[in-house]
Amino acid sequence: MDNMIEIKNLQKKYGENEVLKDITETVKKGQVICVIGPSGSGKSTFLRCLNVLERPTAGKILFEGKDLTDISEKELNVLREKMGMVFQGFNLFPNMSVLENIKLAPMKVKNVPEAQAKKRGEELLEKVGLLDKADQYPESLSGGQKQRVAIARALAMDPEVILFDEPTSALDPEMVGEVLKVMQDLADSGMTMVVVTHEMGFAREVADEVWFMADGYVQEIGTPEEIFEHPKTERAKDFLAKVL
Ligand code: ADP
Ligand code: MG
Repeated sequence: MDNMIEIKNLQKKYGENEVLKDITETVKKGQVICVIGPSGSGKSTFLRCLNVLERPTAGKILFEGKDLTDISEKELNVLREKMGMVFQGFNLFPNMSVLENIKLAPMKVKNVPEAQAKKRGEELLEKVGLLDKADQYPESLSGGQKQRVAIARALAMDPEVILFDEPTSALDPEMVGEVLKVMQDLADSGMTMVVVTHEMGFAREVADEVWFMADGYVQEIGTPEEIFEHPKTERAKDFLAKVL
């Protein structure tokens, strides 16, 4: 498999707070990585470092071979378009309809003609089961529906990889399943995904690799079976005993 993202000696400090100490790992094309770990362990920071929304203090992030920490802002923006992001809080534009939310970036950033952006937007809404909501505004949607729109919006840019930061954490429990289903379909379609999640069932089912983060390091990497059934470090055993 080809390497998609190479993380080399990544370090991130906020003042004296050394959040990421030294992380060297690789995301391969087509892989689904689930990142798990205690709250405050730097998972969100790590994810934001992957597309340099957060500038690493030291280390390199290679995306398709290009070091994102050592290129111009212009080049960075072009490469970032290939890295979709889905947040806990949806971040939809409230003053735009669902379809407008999805069409916006392809039209503005990629100069896709309106008719084409609309067609693609409708296809994506169909894919996430929300075509009938195309003309509604985000406020009229449930949390699960908003998150499915956010995923469709990310897909509209035809990303090479999608980074998810706890996409189901803000949802009422009965809506978690519909979002995980869309993510599972995406994984099955071959999308490369890095998913920070507390949904251990999803990680077990869908992840190719689980990365356990704590204390500034990726402490353990393995298949879901290795991590969940046979964790090696005390840190991971301790964490899993609390969440499983
Ligand atoms: P997690 O997502 O695993 O809960 P975070 O990456 O959000 O962890 O946070 C890790 C640590 O980094 C915390 O101590 C947090 O306070 C700190 N942190 C995160 N973002 C910032 C920021 N923008 N400025 C200062 N400190 C931050
Ligand atoms: Mg977080």
